[in-house]
Amino acid sequence: MAKLLNQKYLGFLEWILHEITEFIELACGPNLKGEVSAQKKQWIANLMAESAPLVYQHSLVGKASTLGKMLKYGMAPPSAEEVRKGSVVYARWNLTNDVTYVGETGKWEQRVGQHYMKTRSHEMGSDKPCSGCAEHAKYLKHRPVSAACWFMTPVRVCASKSEAELLEQKIERAINPVLNRMARKFPIEQNYVMLERKQNLKRRAEGKQRAELWYRPKFTRKATVTPRRSARHTAEPTRGHGRYARSWPTQTACGGNPRSQRLPGCRVAA
Ligand SMILES: [Zn+2]
Repeated sequence: MAKLLNQKYLGFLEWILHEITEFIELACGPNLKGEVSAQKKQWIANLMAESAPLVYQHSLVGKASTLGKMLKYGMAPPSAEEVRKGSVVYARWNLTNDVTYVGETGKWEQRVGQHYMKTRSHEMGSDKPCSGCAEHAKYLKHRPVSAACWFMTPVRVCASKSEAELLEQKIERAINPVLNRMARKFPIEQNYVMLERKQNLKRRAEGKQRAELWYRPKFTRKATVTPRRSARHTAEPTRGHGRYARSWPTQTACGGNPRSQRLPGCRVAA
């Protein structure tokens, strides 16, 4: 019985959450110029702040998820009023898959709008597609779920910005949400990698040069062709080795007469 009630409750919660995404899809789209008005962004920000208690309940009743783990860092769903004014640590998530993101902001309404617009511009068939930005890979990863279906739920309202940043880092380290991994590396880190690569290349090139110097023979013998001398019989122009008759190429070279006084290998006059 308890299980059945649980399921009913979960179904009810999901129905409301789906209704929220449906509203965003239908009512918070762009106008004819492709712009989303400030009013619409305000609606979304309100919906996200107000739906926090529902999301908390959903993560308690539903199956285990990354969002559920994140929400454990918040004591209770913060009120919409607190969220609008305070330093908030929030989770971005959706009902379709377990892809999540943890972030921190002091300007809730603005941040909700930014995330929404960014996700929109990276959607398939977007009317204003992004051609590359600092968080491109991260937002492309949002693609399987449409912008309207992404929730932004406050995890906790902190006393100050620095405290919120600390909590954000803590969650990032402990839970390692997929989308936080997609963030671009800091340029300084990239520079270290590049620098190391460059130095390695230089070192190897120098080593190669040194090796070549080392193996170069010190005395180079001149490749001079001296007529071979037999120990017993000194070579003669008219005779081959061991005073045998010269081979046919030589004979040819000597104009058919090995006894001719011309040196073997001489060019035959035509
Ligand atoms: Zn981009």
